[in-house]
Amino acid sequence: MNNSNALWYPYAPLASMSPPLSVRKAQGAVLYLANGQELIDGISSWWCTLHGYNHPELNQSLSTQLDQFAHVMMGGLNHEPAEKLANTLCQIYPGMKSCFFGDSGSVGVEIALKMACQYWSNIGLKGKSKFVSLSGGYHGDTAGAMSVGEPDDEMHAAFHGILPVQFFTTRPNGWPAENLDECILHLEAILEEHHTEIAAFICEPLMQGYGGFKIYDPNYLKAARILCDKYNVLMIFDEVATGFGRTGKLFACEMVGVLPDITILGKALTAGYLGMSATLANERVFSAYWSADPQKAFMHGPTFMGNALACAVALKSLDIFFEEDRLSDVRRIEALFHKNWTGFQHEQIKEIRILGAMMVIECTSSDTWKGLREFATQRGAWIRPFRNFIYLMPPFIISDSQLIHLSDVLKQWFQQISNSSNLS
Ligand SMILES: *Cc1c(COP(=O)(O)O)cnc(C)c1O
Repeated sequence: MNNSNALWYPYAPLASMSPPLSVRKAQGAVLYLANGQELIDGISSWWCTLHGYNHPELNQSLSTQLDQFAHVMMGGLNHEPAEKLANTLCQIYPGMKSCFFGDSGSVGVEIALKMACQYWSNIGLKGKSKFVSLSGGYHGDTAGAMSVGEPDDEMHAAFHGILPVQFFTTRPNGWPAENLDECILHLEAILEEHHTEIAAFICEPLMQGYGGFKIYDPNYLKAARILCDKYNVLMIFDEVATGFGRTGKLFACEMVGVLPDITILGKALTAGYLGMSATLANERVFSAYWSADPQKAFMHGPTFMGNALACAVALKSLDIFFEEDRLSDVRRIEALFHKNWTGFQHEQIKEIRILGAMMVIECTSSDTWKGLREFATQRGAWIRPFRNFIYLMPPFIISDSQLIHLSDVLKQWFQQISNSSNLS
């Protein structure tokens, strides 16, 4: 007999969630459902599928690598795809010297945290093992990553007792930030008092993702960089969401004009094909590990790190990214977002924010979205609100007309909730 509960779903109350939609095929920016419906994808499968689904060249890169081998361990072995990808990432991310592979964004964050702690112990400074993090952030669902994520978020509330306790500092509000000075003072106060226990400051540069799609002032990060140097604390950028063009530049660090000591890449790294992360370190961090002393070796090593299939598809994805100038698609999407949404108003909308290939509508309450999924799927759109946010983060290859359709469906939704509240 079929056990309908065999598959366990994330982030949803299992007994009341809408039944998941069964995907039969996906192509370009369209999901084809088993029931015959076609949905334009507004989410890029959690922000990963830059070049769209079922891309012939990406598929080919996988099958070419598969004819050689799928995976070998990184302990004592290496291979061309891993060496090439590490080299490429260190070249395209400014200021980076070496790349440590992991198998998901969360693991990439754990690696970055451990790398920062052991950095200080390798250079002979003991006791620097805590972190200061920007409030409202999200860095993943494993324990270390949760500990530096927003502590008041309901997402991780059940685990408070078991997580390491970190420092949180006020986040800048907007760009330009009206509370810039206050935020810088707060960070300095924490660093001044606790820098002997703090290994690093970690944040999502320029835009916080799951924390609410908050875009914030680069001047904050410029000041934070100076403070980190002053107080002997490393700076970690989590670019798992912002990396690979989403904010308008290849990496958010370029928009911000600040370089971290360690950065984490994930999500779009393999264009949505396979789980993979890359934690990059600059010369300063790497040199603390360049030693013949076994005590100074970095003590981490995921079984599937540097997976050859993932490396091959990531390399091909980057080729396509540059050959087809995906950043120009991001500019095209950003311009269309502005055209479709700037000035749009509704009594339930608090703010609309646009940055690169990201548009978010923040509403006053999550009640605004009751029934939205059904409404949207009936009209051929795959969008998924969470809390009081609805966002569009489409694949970069989405056509103008597909993107306009997604915006139209959302506008129709606001129209219909106005109509129904007028009736009642
Ligand atoms: C999604 C995300 C992560 C976690 O990545 P997973 O691959 O889901 O483990 C970490 N940091 C940021 C900023 C993210 O958006």
